[in-house]
Amino acid sequence: MLDQDTVLTSTMPEIVATASATVDFPELRERVRALCAEFPDSYWRELDLTRDYPTRFVEALTASTLLSALIPTQYGGLGLGLSEASVILQEINRSGGHSAACHAQMYTMGALLRHGSNEQKQKYLPRIAAGELRLQAFSITEKEAGSDTTSIVTTAERDGDNYVINGHKSWTSRIEQSDLLIVLARTSAKTAAKASRSDGLSLFLVDLRHVRAEQPDAIVVEPVRTMFNYATNQVTYRNLRIPADALLGTEGQGFRHVLDGWNAERILLAAEAVGDGLWFTERAVAYAQQRSVFGSSIGAYQGVAFPIAEAYMQLRAADLLRIDAARRFDTEQSCGPEANMAKYLCSTASWAAANACLDTHGGYGFVDEYDVERKFRETRMFSVAPVNNNLIKAFVATNVLGLPKSY
Ligand SMILES: Cc1cc2nc3c(=O)[nH]c(=O)nc-3n(C[C@H](O)[C@H](O)[C@H](O)COP(=O)(O)OP(=O)(O)OC[C@H]3O[C@@H](n4cnc5c(N)ncnc54)[C@H](O)[C@@H]3O)c2cc1C
Repeated sequence: MLDQDTVLTSTMPEIVATASATVDFPELRERVRALCAEFPDSYWRELDLTRDYPTRFVEALTASTLLSALIPTQYGGLGLGLSEASVILQEINRSGGHSAACHAQMYTMGALLRHGSNEQKQKYLPRIAAGELRLQAFSITEKEAGSDTTSIVTTAERDGDNYVINGHKSWTSRIEQSDLLIVLARTSAKTAAKASRSDGLSLFLVDLRHVRAEQPDAIVVEPVRTMFNYATNQVTYRNLRIPADALLGTEGQGFRHVLDGWNAERILLAAEAVGDGLWFTERAVAYAQQRSVFGSSIGAYQGVAFPIAEAYMQLRAADLLRIDAARRFDTEQSCGPEANMAKYLCSTASWAAANACLDTHGGYGFVDEYDVERKFRETRMFSVAPVNNNLIKAFVATNVLGLPKSY
C-alpha cells in the first residue's frame, strides 16, 4: 500500500497550480484554502465515521467572516455576490471538506434578503453576520409531495396574532445545529387551476430558540442516518405557534419566494460539485503518478489516464457555465436556464471524476483512509438533491426548448 501522505506531498502543488490556472477570485480562494488547511482529511474522516457535525469548522468559517459573504455590509456582512460565495464553497469541497455543514446559510439568504421585512432583517442579519445566530435549516420537502413542492400538505393556520403549524417534513437538515429555521407551509388549499396551483403556500422564519424554550414539544425531530455525514432529520410540527410577524414575504406567495432562491442554490451547489470534482482529479493524478503496476506508472495506461482527463475536461467546461450563471445572477439578469444547466453539468462532471478517481485507486479506493470512498458518497448527492437531475432536464426541455410539459 502506498503511503498516502507521501503521494500527496510529492505531487499536489503542481496539480493544484495547473487546475487553478484560469480560475476566478484567486485571492479569495487562497484565503479559503488557508482556513481549510487547518481541517485535514482526518478531521472530516473521523466525523464521517461518527456522523458528527463539524462544529469546529463551522465556527472557524463563521469567525473568518466568510460565511457572511452574502450578507450586505450594512448588516455587518461581506456584501459579496454569488460569484464569490460559490468560490468559497467550491474551495471548501476542493480541500476535501464538505460545505453541506453550512451551505444552507448561503442557500437561504436570498429568502430573507429579498422577502424579509426591514424588522426581520434588522433583527437577524447583524447577529447572523456576527456569528451569534445560525440560519442553517429549511423545511420544505414532504413525503407525499417529493419533487412536486406545490403538493405539500403541512398547514399554517392563522389564529389571532399567531400562525399554528401542523404537519410532517421528511427532510430538514441541520435543524438541531440552527437557531433559525425557514418553513414552507400551506395557508390555503391548493387550487385545481394550473395557473394558480403554486398559490396558497407561505414561508415562515421561525426562531428556534423561542420554540425550544417555550414549546419544546411543538417540533419533534427524528435524526435520519444517511449514506454520508449529513445532519438531516424528519420533523413533525405539532401545533407549533409562531408570531404572525414570522411570515417571510407575502402570505400565499411562499412558493414563488422559494423559487427566487432556487437559482442561487443551484449555482452554489454547482460550485460545490466542481470543488469535489477537482479534489477527485487531484487525488487521481497524484495516485496514478506514484502507483506502479506491471513495471509502469499506472498513469501511463490510457485505461487509467483517459477517464481522469475526460472528467477534468467536463469539470472545466461545466464550471464555465457556473461562472456565467453566477455573473448573470449578480448582475440581475435572467439566469434560470444557466443555473439549472450548471447544476446538471457540474454534478455529472463531478460524478465522472469520482468514478475515475475510485477506479484509479483500485481496491484502495474503498479504504476509508484514502478518503475517496467518503467523497464518492458525498458527491453522489449532487445529482439527487436538493433537486433531481431529471427535473433539471424537464425544466430545460420545457422552459428553454419549448417542448410540452410532462407533468
Ligand atoms: C441528505 C438529504 C438532505 C436533505 N435535506 C433537505 C432539507 O434540509 N430540507 C428540505 O426541504 N429537503 C431536503 N432534502 C430533500 C430533497 O430536496 C429531496 O430529496 C428532493 O427534492 C427530491 O425529492 P424526493 O426525494 O421526494 O424524490 P421524488 O420526488 O420522489 O423523486 C424520485 C424519483 O422520481 C423522479 N421524478 C419525479 N418526478 C419526475 C418527473 N416529473 N419527471 C422525471 N422524473 C421525475 C426523480 O427524478 C427521482 O429520480 C434532503 C434530501 C437528502 C437526500
